[in-house]
Amino acid sequence: MFQKTIAELIIELQNKSISSVELTQAYLNRIQKNDQIYNSFITVTPDLALEQAERADKRLAAGNAEPLTGIPLAQKDIFCTNGVKTSSGSKMLDNFIAPYDATVIDKFNQAGAVMLGKTNMDEFAMGSSNETSFYGPVKNPWNTNTVPGGSSGGSAAAVAAQLAPAATGTDTGGSIRQPAALCNLTGLKPTYGRVSRYGMIAFASSLDQAGPMTKTAEDAAIMLNAMAGFDPKDSTCSNKNVPDYTADLNKNLKGLKIGLPKEFFEKGMDESVAKVIEDAIDTYKKAGAELVEISLPNSGLSVPSYYVVAPAEASSNLSRFDGVRYGYRCENPVDLEDMYKRSRGEGFGEEVKRRIMIGTYALSVGFYDAYYLKAQKVRRLISEDFKKAFEKVDVIMGPTTPTTAFNIGEKSNDPVTMYLSDIYTIAVNLAGLPGMSIPAGFANNMPVGLQLIGNYFEESRLLNVAHQYQQITDWHKQTPAM
Ligand code: GLN
Repeated sequence: MFQKTIAELIIELQNKSISSVELTQAYLNRIQKNDQIYNSFITVTPDLALEQAERADKRLAAGNAEPLTGIPLAQKDIFCTNGVKTSSGSKMLDNFIAPYDATVIDKFNQAGAVMLGKTNMDEFAMGSSNETSFYGPVKNPWNTNTVPGGSSGGSAAAVAAQLAPAATGTDTGGSIRQPAALCNLTGLKPTYGRVSRYGMIAFASSLDQAGPMTKTAEDAAIMLNAMAGFDPKDSTCSNKNVPDYTADLNKNLKGLKIGLPKEFFEKGMDESVAKVIEDAIDTYKKAGAELVEISLPNSGLSVPSYYVVAPAEASSNLSRFDGVRYGYRCENPVDLEDMYKRSRGEGFGEEVKRRIMIGTYALSVGFYDAYYLKAQKVRRLISEDFKKAFEKVDVIMGPTTPTTAFNIGEKSNDPVTMYLSDIYTIAVNLAGLPGMSIPAGFANNMPVGLQLIGNYFEESRLLNVAHQYQQITDWHKQTPAM
């Protein structure tokens, strides 16, 4: 049962071969039994889950269910959940019980989905390995000595270890796609503005976007149907119509033009990963797609410009954590300044402090033009590269990550090496485009992800291209030995 996709579970719930309460209880038992190994959840919410499951069963019986009614899901601990601890992986918010629901959570609730709990993550979503979490590292179910990726590593490990049928993630520079790749999942980062950011604890507001982490592209489509849409509470949220993302899944790939950026294949990728990616692209070719070499000449500038823009926005967003309004407050402050300093000094972890320092420096008078403004200009060039490419091709493909999952501790003392694990994903966020990672094979017994990049609001096309691949391959069906 734990191997089943959302699409399969929907059928079982609707034909009553299982109830949502039974399904939810089974997952709760499995989490309780196995999550000591992975540390994928920060909070498990059994009472709430069973209450939601009971309500879902009534709705299923009454015949007014939506596709996700009764489906258990794991939510990244970055989404505010009314009455439930919302930590964003930080000591700063260890005592924070959110007083309202994020729009994404609200939409799942309205759809009748069940929340199993809140998943572990890098502190304030800063990281690529889940090692910066206040709650300790998450283990990759494919090899527990390795990282699951980050920052949505708890969500990735939970789905890969079959502790939840699917989960949510957020992606600022790769945090849905990179852990999906490292854990053999399908992960989708929608176009910036497709999904509301309201109630999603902000890291870098011009880059952050929420999306699904699932076993299949079909499940990602079902999840995105529930998540996407205009929200008056988020001024950057698009009011473009939300199509039915499952409608185009079965379109044939004949004539599809796939762009292969030469910069992605020149250097940097592990040879064993490159082999898997080449085979995956060959599969598309055999299915009738046309391969076109393209160039993204400024893609080499994406990591440096991201590490100016993202910390700058983060330093501003994180100024709200001051020990006054909510979150951690130091003991016995002698005066206001002491309280600010010690609350922030004690409440934030090392990586978060490093980003705040970089960000405030880049934004300071005298350096603003040289760093922040320059980075914004480079960002425009990166978007223009994609714009030109999409005049010639329908989707762009390449690796999601340069290597498979690395060992826990291997890169944690070397931030720059860690930052480079997002080398193929970051440009997509800078441009605001939709991107996906799908299972494409294995290198040294560890999963490899193929990245698909689409034009603005072309999530349907990405999902179609991913789904078609999953009809002719079974990489996505492989599960870790547990
Ligand atoms: N790994 C990148 C960073 O540390 C991206 C994180 C993310 O997408 N949230 O900033």
